[in-house]
Amino acid sequence: MTEIPPYALGDLVARPGSQVRGYCEVSLGTAAVALPVAITHGAEPGPVLSVTAGIHGGEYVPMVAVRQFIRDLDPARMRGTVVACLQSSPVAFQQRAAFINPLDGQNLNRTFPGDPLGGPTARLADWLFENVLTRADYYVDCHCGDLPEALDSFAGVSPGPDGVVSDQARALADCFDVARLIVDHLRGSTIYQAAQVGVAAALVEIGGQGRWTQAEADVQRQGLLRAAALAGILPGGPEPRPGLPLFEEAADVLSDRHGLWFPEVEVGTSVQPGTRLGRLEDPFGDEVQEVLAPAAGVLTYGLASLAAGPGSLLAALSRPVEG
Ligand SMILES: [Zn+2]
Repeated sequence: MTEIPPYALGDLVARPGSQVRGYCEVSLGTAAVALPVAITHGAEPGPVLSVTAGIHGGEYVPMVAVRQFIRDLDPARMRGTVVACLQSSPVAFQQRAAFINPLDGQNLNRTFPGDPLGGPTARLADWLFENVLTRADYYVDCHCGDLPEALDSFAGVSPGPDGVVSDQARALADCFDVARLIVDHLRGSTIYQAAQVGVAAALVEIGGQGRWTQAEADVQRQGLLRAAALAGILPGGPEPRPGLPLFEEAADVLSDRHGLWFPEVEVGTSVQPGTRLGRLEDPFGDEVQEVLAPAAGVLTYGLASLAAGPGSLLAALSRPVEG
């Protein structure tokens, strides 16, 4: 058997045929964080699959799914390497912060590829980008709806520098048993920036609202196992699977005021332009805004919190890609 070198990342070193779990200390300028990272390094050479959970610290399904995924890996029976960051924004997790990193109020998933001389979130993005995302051949970013969000499950992919979604990224996303695959053009997101540098990258979203269930975690965990087989890390090879139906973003519906939000349409429902999505009421119970769908589509995300404010995302619609 060919002797392969150890896999080093931050403060951790995994010898061939071993799993190492520990913390990577990352200086963010005005603060420092310790990221829980597991490296599972196979006994034989092969590709690298990187996985992140907790890019948004209030999203719990991925934190359960990814820890179960890595604990089931047997490095003696693997080729290549699986790198998992189990809490990618630890202060957000500790403080139960939705969307943002409390260290500077920035959304980590809008900050990639980051900046080693920037603020705390930009530095965190830079560390993750250099150490976890771009050293991978395959990268999966696991999310769910954030603390106030309900969503209908989906996977996401982004176009590469040529403007096209790679077949490898699409195959990676198809590993997950979710309702649809949405093409995401969100600059600064993990998968958009990873795709820009040629990494096969996919996002997976299931569950939300500050909860997790084992059934939701299983969708992510089983998808990660299929992704590792697709990459050739686990034996068995890729499982033939039908492709997910391809969707694109159709419209975001934002609140323009403070109010109490009463959604009237469940996530996963198809709506037409003008369909009433819900209402905003004042504190006394009078309706102050009727919220209508601006386009046809499936309600992918919905605000599940009673509290809404200017700029709150009340609903997001996606529609099938034609052709
Ligand atoms: Zn998220």
